[in-house]
Amino acid sequence: MVISDFIQMLQNAGIPDACFDFRCMLEQITGNKYSVQLSASQEQQLLTMIQRRISGEPLQYILGEWEFYGLRIFVGEGVLIPRPETELLVDTVLDWCKAHPVGHIIDLCTGSGCIALALKKHLPDVLVSAVDISETALHYARKNAEYHHLPVTFYHADVTDKDFIAQFRNLDIIVSNPPYLTVQEMAELQTEVQHEPALALYGGSAPDGTYFYQNITSGWQSSLSSGGMLAYEIGWQQSRPVTEILTSHAFHSVRVIQDYEHRDRIVSGQKN
Ligand code: GLN
Repeated sequence: MVISDFIQMLQNAGIPDACFDFRCMLEQITGNKYSVQLSASQEQQLLTMIQRRISGEPLQYILGEWEFYGLRIFVGEGVLIPRPETELLVDTVLDWCKAHPVGHIIDLCTGSGCIALALKKHLPDVLVSAVDISETALHYARKNAEYHHLPVTFYHADVTDKDFIAQFRNLDIIVSNPPYLTVQEMAELQTEVQHEPALALYGGSAPDGTYFYQNITSGWQSSLSSGGMLAYEIGWQQSRPVTEILTSHAFHSVRVIQDYEHRDRIVSGQKN
């Protein structure tokens, strides 16, 4: 087969970025995006990847990795794929750290560990802790930390567990990209997202999907230092309820930041 035949297969199946996806797969197998000579076994490997892609599996799971904030992040079935808009959450925290002394940051619902690792990379002197309820996610998070030699402390726990929370005091920043999709959004997921874990996506049965914002804000409030920052990634329709949750828990200077598509994406506030 020639290169164009592989691309054609993806195009015929309606894969929107067929050429891009193919080049990523080719690079994964041969080390070169523009290889033209393929061995029989490389052709076979490519065909397997293409079949997986045609069946709707996300490109990132097929490659086994994706980039986040300049870091190679290993991913696979059972862990949320890092999204570009989540980099804004890292920017928000790093900006804050330029103007405030920070000793300890915790990342709740860390998933692949991408946020915690990006922060640790840019703030090597800060203690960074990270929590997730999923063993599979933590497997990837630990693997990513090891690969980048970034010492983050990972905890396997439910972020709403009061006994677990009680061990943390004087945190300077709480950062989280929790599951936030509504029941309705879960029913309308695109095929690729259906391959990702519902545990990382579903924001609870309240119609606005704010279970985690409610419970993290109330549960972790007393573990945050006075003057400390809480920063969330949110769904684009959640800025109003999440802002209300923060202001009703004694946070001030509540800010909403929009993403590249001009949709509300980050809410942060400072504890009184
Ligand atoms: N941004 C993700 C999506 O739209 C959801 C991630 C999350 O729930 N934290 O699929």
